[in-house]
Amino acid sequence: MASLKPGACIGIIGGGQLGRMLALAAARLGLKTLVLDPQENAPAFQVSNGAIIAAYDDGDALSKLAAQSDVITYEFENIDLTAVKALEETHVCHPNSKALATSQDRLVEKSFFNDLGIETAPFFEVSSRDELNEALKQTGGFGIVKSRRFGYDGKGQIRLSPDDTVALEQANELIQKTPCILEGFVNFEREISIVAARNSDGQTELFEVAENVHVDGILSTSTLPARVGEATRARAQAIAVQTLDALKYVGVLAIEFFVNENGDLLVNEFAPRVHNSGHWTEAACVISQFEQHIRAVSGLPLISTHRHSDCIMENLIGEDVYRVPEILTRPDTLLHLYGKEEVRTGRKMGHFTTLFPTKD
Ligand code: ATP
Ligand code: MG
Repeated sequence: MASLKPGACIGIIGGGQLGRMLALAAARLGLKTLVLDPQENAPAFQVSNGAIIAAYDDGDALSKLAAQSDVITYEFENIDLTAVKALEETHVCHPNSKALATSQDRLVEKSFFNDLGIETAPFFEVSSRDELNEALKQTGGFGIVKSRRFGYDGKGQIRLSPDDTVALEQANELIQKTPCILEGFVNFEREISIVAARNSDGQTELFEVAENVHVDGILSTSTLPARVGEATRARAQAIAVQTLDALKYVGVLAIEFFVNENGDLLVNEFAPRVHNSGHWTEAACVISQFEQHIRAVSGLPLISTHRHSDCIMENLIGEDVYRVPEILTRPDTLLHLYGKEEVRTGRKMGHFTTLFPTKD
C-alpha cells in the first residue's frame, strides 16, 4: 500500500475512547478520520471529521465507511467477522480478519499461542456440568470460568474455589448460556503487558513492557519501568514479534502476561488494537501507541520508541473522575479525559500519567 498523504481519511470502527485517541493522533499527522459507532454521543465523534451512526454489522453503513476511507481500522475486536471479511475483499483493512478472529474467541486465542510454543494458563473447553467438574479436578478446584467471546474488563468471568458452591452454580448457569472455557488460576507475581507495532513491510517496533495492576478485573495502573529482569523483558519482546509475524499483522497490538516468581511468562490474552496499558506512551515517549498505530496502518514509517521518563498511568473509573480538579493542579501530570457525559460505576472516564523524569 502506498503511504497516505495529509488529507487522506482513516475509517475507524468504534467510537469509544480508543477511537477518540486514534482520531486525535491522526489529526496531528494531517490525516482525517471517519468514525462508525452505534451511539450518537460516542466519545470519538467529538474529535473526528465525520460520523456514521450505525450498528457495527450494518452492511450499508460499512460500505459507506469504506467508500469514504483510504484505510479501515478498529478500536475494538468484537466486530462482526463476516462483515470485516467482506470489507477486506475490496478495501484495505488493518489489522486483518485473522487477527480479529483469533482474539475474538479465548479458545482459539489460547490454542494459537500454544501452537506457536508460547505458554498460557491451562484451559479447558467446558460446555456441561460434567465437563466443568472434570476440568476442575485437573486445576485443583481453583480457576476462572470465562465466556469464550465478548468479555472485557473482567465481564463474563466467574472465579471458582473448592468451597464456593454459589460461584460454581453461577458458573454452571453461564456455561448453559454461552460457550465457555475454564482457565486454571495463575498465582502470578505480577502482570505485565507489551504494546507492539508492525507495518506492511514487516518492520516491527516495540514499546517497553509495563507493569499492570487490575482491580476487580479492570486495569487500575500501569507503571514504568516494570519490576522484571532482562530475560523476562526479552521473552516478552520475542513473543510480541512472533505474534505480529504469525498474524502478518499491520498496526498496534497489546499482549498481556502473567509473570511467575521465576520471571517466566504466561500469555493471558492479546488485543488487536491500541490498549489501555499503553496509554502511558502518550506522556513518556515521543510518539504514543496511537500515533504508532496510525503510522502503521497508513503505510508511514514506524519509529523507535524510547521512554524518556519513569511514569505511572492511573485510570479514572466511574466516580474517580471527581478527582479531576485536584489532578489538574499536579506537576508533571498529563490528564486525558474521554468526553463521556454520564458517570457510571466501572466506566472508564479518563486517565492521567504522572512523569518522574529520569535524572541521568
Ligand atoms: P480486558 O479485555 O479488559 O483486559 P478481560 O475481560 O479480557 O479484560 P482478562 O484479561 O481475562 O479479562 O482478566 C482480567 C484480569 O483478571 C487479569 O488481568 C488478571 O488480573 C485476572 N485474571 C484473569 N485470568 C486469570 C487467571 N487465569 N488466573 C489469575 N488471574 C486471572
Ligand atoms: Mg485482559
